[in-house]
Amino acid sequence: MSDSTTLPRPGSAPQTLANPPGRGPASTFGCYTFNLEAMQQRLPRPVYEAIYATIRAGQPLDTGLADAVAGAMKDWAVEHGATHFTHWFQPLTGATAEKHDAFLSIDEGFPIESFTGSQLIQAEPDASSFPSGGMRSTFEARGYSAWDPTSPAFILFHERGCTLTIPCVFVSYTGEALDKKTPLLRSMKELSRAAVHALGLMGQDVKRVVATLGAEQEYFLIQREFYDDRPDLQVGGRTIIGARPPKGQQLEDHYFGAIDEVALNFMAEVEAEAWKLGIPIKTRHNEVAPHQYEAAPIYQPIHVATDQNQLLMDLMRRVAKRQDLAVLFHEKPFAGVNGSGKHCNWSLEDDQGRNLLDPGDTPESNVQFLFFLVAVLKGVHRRSGLVRAAIAHSGNDHRLGANEAPPAIISAFIGERLGHILETLAEGKTVDAVKDEVLQTGLEVLPDVKRDNTDRNRTSPFAFTGNKFELRAVGASQSLAMPVTYLSVAVAEALDDMSGRLEKLVESGEPWEDATLAVVRESYRECRQIVFNGNNYGAAWVAEAEKRGLPNAKDTPAALAVLSEEDTAAFLDRYGVFRPHELKARHVISLESYSRALEIEAIQMLRMAKTGVIVAAMEHQRLMAVSIQAAEELGLAAEEQKAELAHFVDFVNGTFRGLNAVRRALRDAPEDEASQERARFIADHLKPAMEELREACDAIERSADSALWPFPTYHQMLFQ
Ligand code: ADP
Ligand code: MG
Repeated sequence: MSDSTTLPRPGSAPQTLANPPGRGPASTFGCYTFNLEAMQQRLPRPVYEAIYATIRAGQPLDTGLADAVAGAMKDWAVEHGATHFTHWFQPLTGATAEKHDAFLSIDEGFPIESFTGSQLIQAEPDASSFPSGGMRSTFEARGYSAWDPTSPAFILFHERGCTLTIPCVFVSYTGEALDKKTPLLRSMKELSRAAVHALGLMGQDVKRVVATLGAEQEYFLIQREFYDDRPDLQVGGRTIIGARPPKGQQLEDHYFGAIDEVALNFMAEVEAEAWKLGIPIKTRHNEVAPHQYEAAPIYQPIHVATDQNQLLMDLMRRVAKRQDLAVLFHEKPFAGVNGSGKHCNWSLEDDQGRNLLDPGDTPESNVQFLFFLVAVLKGVHRRSGLVRAAIAHSGNDHRLGANEAPPAIISAFIGERLGHILETLAEGKTVDAVKDEVLQTGLEVLPDVKRDNTDRNRTSPFAFTGNKFELRAVGASQSLAMPVTYLSVAVAEALDDMSGRLEKLVESGEPWEDATLAVVRESYRECRQIVFNGNNYGAAWVAEAEKRGLPNAKDTPAALAVLSEEDTAAFLDRYGVFRPHELKARHVISLESYSRALEIEAIQMLRMAKTGVIVAAMEHQRLMAVSIQAAEELGLAAEEQKAELAHFVDFVNGTFRGLNAVRRALRDAPEDEASQERARFIADHLKPAMEELREACDAIERSADSALWPFPTYHQMLFQ
């Protein structure tokens, strides 16, 4: 009998482990971040305490301390090998931006390593080429990046060096937000204020409330060689042409299946790096489509989670390249195959770590929970247009409402039981009437069944999942900043409204529990239209939603219109998130990037059709014709072959018709690049023309000699 230790190990023998033996995720976690632990070790106590108060309690930081922090940060970074620092911010492009400077100055002829407080606090990148939506003209292009001490600095490695990277906001000389982070921080402040006030009315002494966010990131992985041969993937992130394979995901045999070796190696390396950067990646699994996966971290305050998601996507791109893979974040990289989203799990946490959306033991006794739950529903009901606008862009248009992702109608799922409780309340009955609703399983081994009281509804765009909401409509490639900004400020507004009523009732002598329930009842009555527990994918829901008066903005140009409404501008101004011209700038930039993205795709498509598809098609056509002719010359009947060729010729003609349709739409689009009219025209004319051209190209791909086909196929990309 052989010794069991000599038996081969399952799976292939590891070459090098991304995470070496004995080093669990916790042992290296955050080692490349200048986190509280590193600060405590390196900063004088009063400086550490001041910065701790800023991070934990949101108190403004005394800029006089910046020199001390900068010195410690630089020493720490240099010890890790850093030679440079960079401010790192999120301009309105949706990506991140950085500009590196060495820790070097010349002091009276001698080189020294230096990094001052003022370099930490503020920098002035040459920002003239970032989109500003007209807020800055290029000749006064000054944009300033300013240190955000609440998000930890980190060290980013490349093969031959590393850089101290400092999360920042990006603002103009006069303080306008030129980025996605500033409005996010502004919304957090308002939400905290409103929630603290509401809690105070309910007798809770709380100083600060933060919104929390855990974003589940979906993505595709394909082999690099295929990506390199698909200019559409490189330019627009999706396949603009490509015939669906006979087997797509119909069998759904990939979902939660065993993760293949290539993907696991990718995940292991991403995770090992993410942990060192303090990104708490926790979960990994296969998604619905072949080669589609998901990564999810443990939740964080929304601004940290937003930064970390940007960083994670960046890491994934780099690791993919290193491993001869390409990672795709586009919402719909492959037509007819499940698309990718970014599910935003969102909740509220007070300064003692209590989750305000956790019902506790019995929801009906927990009036405070009901108050916050209804505030979220009310906020999203009132501002659903803004939530819809935040997820609107050309990529996500392929996904929303396409019977696989939540539809473009914003509604909320709260489950049968909570729905029943709130409906009972709204009808004026007492809470006692629903007491027996508490789930009794009689199984003591099942802890907290009562808390996880929501059955799952995968079709809802905004679902309550027991102790948090999950916004599922965000696209996989999108920054999380705007969706959570609008969500947070919408809830702040609802809380303020409800607190106002509560205050009056409490002042008139009503006990706070009764008063709170009264406000819950009244507020729920106003927003119950948004609650829908049924199937959001069905056509019946579209009709029902229309009856309820819920907006259904079908595409990006329609969804963005809310940004130009006066009521929107007044609301966001009142809550300090955007001044009217800041909002206008965002509207303009969103319209422009929508139109541009589609134009670029269209131009790329023309090129691929002309230089690839049509060349292959004509060659195939010629070969068929020559061969039929040869058969006829021999006196053989070839009627069926001719009919087949006629079919094929029709596809080829179809590509020319499609080409012309796309060219016409490009030519006739209204001129003003940032206008609603141009975006509308592109949605109504360019997109259908591209569809027409695609159909013809895909028909050719299905019929022509595969050896002539110039691009990697869906089958290669998804099954190899
Ligand atoms: P699933 O949705 O598959 O049931 P989980 O509920 O465990 O998975 O969590 C999914 C995501 O929700 C994770 O990123 C997790 O950290 C996050 N999450 C859990 N609790 C909260 C919370 N209170 N606030 C925000 N996100 C949360
Ligand atoms: Mg989930």
